[in-house]
Amino acid sequence: MFINSHLATGYLLYKLNIFEKKWLPIWILSAWIPDIDGLWSSSVVEHHSVLHTQIFWMVLCSLGWFIGHLKKKLNIKTFFIILFIGTFAHLFTDYITARTVGIKWLYPLNDVDYFLYPIIPENGNIPIWKMLVPPYLTFYFENKLLTAFEIFLNIIALVLYFFSFKKPN
Ligand SMILES: [Zn+2]
Repeated sequence: MFINSHLATGYLLYKLNIFEKKWLPIWILSAWIPDIDGLWSSSVVEHHSVLHTQIFWMVLCSLGWFIGHLKKKLNIKTFFIILFIGTFAHLFTDYITARTVGIKWLYPLNDVDYFLYPIIPENGNIPIWKMLVPPYLTFYFENKLLTAFEIFLNIIALVLYFFSFKKPN
């Protein structure tokens, strides 16, 4: 999924009002952070590093939460709960919208790449920045259902964002 859609997902999760408003930046960051591996990946298809595995975030967030628990710091615990939910949402939406590379849900138990719709890994043998131009872009949007889903996600987030400025009567 594209970065703007991950940011939108983070915003939608924040709008569920599970925690106080001050956590907005952490929601946005958490929903995006696995894609930071794009910075050191040579191609789209290779950009799914360990940051795109569930086990990594499970271990990191459990440890972080546990440290917060021992230190009796609610903020630390909340931070790691949000990080866990946000990164899970990232992996889940990447799994749904996978076009060239899926998610290794059971890594390191197995190395199987899971995806909802058939993927074409060869189309991902391009540098990350080329995701933003055809032919990758047109290939990405070939699946109309996924395109509609991703656009819908962004529109809902934008609408909620603009409505958040409306003063209550
Ligand atoms: Zn991703």
